[in-house]
Amino acid sequence: MLKDKVAIVTGASRGIGREIALKLASYGATVIVNYCGSKEKAEEVVAYIEGQGGRAVTYQGNVADAESMKEMFAYVIKEFGRVDILVNNAGITRDNLILKMSEEEFDAVIDTDLKGVYNCLKQASRIMLKQKSGRIVNISSVVGVLGNAGQVNYAAAKAGVIGMTKSLARELGSRGITVNAVAPGFIETEMTETLSENIKENTLTQIPLKRFGKVEDVAETVAFLVSDKAAYITGQTIHVDGGMGM
Ligand code: NAP
Repeated sequence: MLKDKVAIVTGASRGIGREIALKLASYGATVIVNYCGSKEKAEEVVAYIEGQGGRAVTYQGNVADAESMKEMFAYVIKEFGRVDILVNNAGITRDNLILKMSEEEFDAVIDTDLKGVYNCLKQASRIMLKQKSGRIVNISSVVGVLGNAGQVNYAAAKAGVIGMTKSLARELGSRGITVNAVAPGFIETEMTETLSENIKENTLTQIPLKRFGKVEDVAETVAFLVSDKAAYITGQTIHVDGGMGM
């Protein structure tokens, strides 16, 4: 399905990004497994893909650093000649109620989860416009749609990602490039495992499908959006949340 495609997945060393990288590779894409700090985990992802007969490389780079992302895209063009797919997945949380939230906590989340997406969109757009083709998927969150106490920073970033997705879809549409967002609900990863049992139980009551999501649920949706089957879908936010955000 994705044979001969070159895909960059940011934050692919763990969690949802890891599963997206494995999924795209299983469909034949060459995957650039971007990570920031988890070198060994990123290398494990590449080793797993290669073990399955796929093709992948790691790339250390901080999405919040524009220069670092410029270098990453330049590296991918030099080594692989093109960028067909970009999945902006890297993200962090720094939760706190507003009165306790420091400026550092606010800025860290905006820098990684919002500006980090912009940094990659800018590089990818230049390349994809020249190619006159491309698929971009930005990972937002149900929190960007509903809001969540203790997450004004994260909600602002994730709502911003939806706005960026729609705007860029309008900018790039005439060149056959699609830009969509996926808004996961509560997915079982390291990001959510530290939450208290109380919060988890409370969240479960708000999910019509009565279970937390799995990384596979998100990865399958991303794989569909970057495939030829989704050629007429752009500017959309697909909610993978068990009905939580409807
Ligand atoms: P996770 O398990 O904490 O993994 C986060 C990934 O992002 C790691 O690979 C991490 O790499 C990478 N990363 C963090 N900062 C980075 C930076 N500055 N530059 C490059 N990579 C960076 O998180 P997750 O649960 O899989 O979440 C993935 C995405 O889905 C995030 O955007 C998150 O907001 C979104 N999401 C998650 C949920 C959920 O329930 N889990 C729900 C909605 C949306 P290193 O370890 O190498 O730093």
